[in-house]
Amino acid sequence: MFNEPELWDKSREGRCGISMPRSDVPRTDLDPALTGDAPELPQLSELDVVRHFVRLSQWNFSIDAGMYPLGSCTMKYNPKTNEVQAARKGFAAAHPLAGDEFSQGALKLMYELEQLLGEITGFPAVTLQPAAGAHGELTGMLMIHAWHAKQGKQRSKILIPDTAHGTNPASATLCGYQSVNIKSGPDGILEPATVAEAMDEDTAGIMITNPNTLGLFEENIKEVCDIVHAKGGLVYGDGANMNAVMGIIKPGELGIDVLHLNLHKTFSTPHGGGGPGSGPVAVVEELIPFLPVPRVEKENDAYSFITDCPDTIGRMHTFYGHFSVMVKAFAYILSMGGDGLTRASQLAVLNANYIKESLKTTLDLPYDRPCMHECVFTDKTVQEYHISTMDMAKRLLDYGFHPPTVYFPLVVDAAFMVEPTETESKDDIDQFIEAVKAIVKEAASDPDKLKSAPYLPKVTRLDEVTAARKPCLKG
Ligand SMILES: *Cc1c(COP(=O)(O)O)cnc(C)c1O
Repeated sequence: MFNEPELWDKSREGRCGISMPRSDVPRTDLDPALTGDAPELPQLSELDVVRHFVRLSQWNFSIDAGMYPLGSCTMKYNPKTNEVQAARKGFAAAHPLAGDEFSQGALKLMYELEQLLGEITGFPAVTLQPAAGAHGELTGMLMIHAWHAKQGKQRSKILIPDTAHGTNPASATLCGYQSVNIKSGPDGILEPATVAEAMDEDTAGIMITNPNTLGLFEENIKEVCDIVHAKGGLVYGDGANMNAVMGIIKPGELGIDVLHLNLHKTFSTPHGGGGPGSGPVAVVEELIPFLPVPRVEKENDAYSFITDCPDTIGRMHTFYGHFSVMVKAFAYILSMGGDGLTRASQLAVLNANYIKESLKTTLDLPYDRPCMHECVFTDKTVQEYHISTMDMAKRLLDYGFHPPTVYFPLVVDAAFMVEPTETESKDDIDQFIEAVKAIVKEAASDPDKLKSAPYLPKVTRLDEVTAARKPCLKG
């Protein structure tokens, strides 16, 4: 299955992938001075080409082929109806320069999606412009920056817990803020006293990932928000992991001021292959004037883009963001319904806790308490055999599973971070658990074998440094 030659090697003189009707006009050769030499292309039939690319696609792991428990990434199954809706001609062929009058359907969809996301998160307004999660963070932080400027005094620092996503300090830095690391407590969550100690009037606010990257709910979130607000700061919520809490809590009601979502995680758009994604940002009333333009407005039954917002941070994307992703998220939300979304969160949390409980005597579990949508183990139980998280992750490929996220979050040594998502059946999750147990057994019985895994995929154990520095993209 993996032995696929290059198209050049499959080329056969005279083979052709298309049939043209016989010409009924006299043949005239083009002037070679104008056209240059004919391009050299492989000569192949349609079937040769189809098989070539389908076979190549099977070299990659995909959610449609198997369980993909990559922590913090929410690689859940994406219902195909979302693709069908996004491919409808009116959506797929919509032109960004067509003007409001000829784009009423697209504008209505955007307006209604903003309303739905506002309802899910508990905020009065949303922008759909950012292209992904980290871009949403930048958008939100620019709004916080603009809000402080409007208050008359700019601040220089941002508090960032050690359990925040790695993109958080990067986004704060891009805005010119200096990030201040806040240590989480022994339970893996933020302690109000630590925040109170660090929060001062030169600090613009805090960026909180909730649930955090340990898969834990920040139980002191309300208190932390109060502390930051009391010193004139704002609270940024990283809601990329909303799939654990949608329908259960509304971040807007907890004291958070700005929140981004990842449509390509929680709202079921395929991702992991480089995009496109979408990272809408929801805000409280006070921050609405700073939202990016253009904004979608509804008057009577007509929709239009407005740009006349004096305090706006400006444009964050060409045109209006990634429209096809918005269509997929809209289709997903409508087909799930409110109860369906709540149920999805419940199952995501149930599945992660099931894995946590099933594996906590096999692997080391540094925070043994109820988790949200993901759980974090380490390689402590196999270290005595000189086996690491990386070895276990690689071996999982031989069992047909995508490895979990490894060595992240950084607060845990050699993290092995599993996010099953709500779309996996108990049968598949049980198979995953059995695979991990078999690997841990093998660590004791045949560690050398484990160290050279995987054996079955097209690409086996890579020299990771060379692979990163001198990538060979030929296969
Ligand atoms: C995935 C993720 C991000 C970044 O989202 P991108 O779309 O990859 O930019 C930010 N925060 C958290 C918690 C995430 O899980």
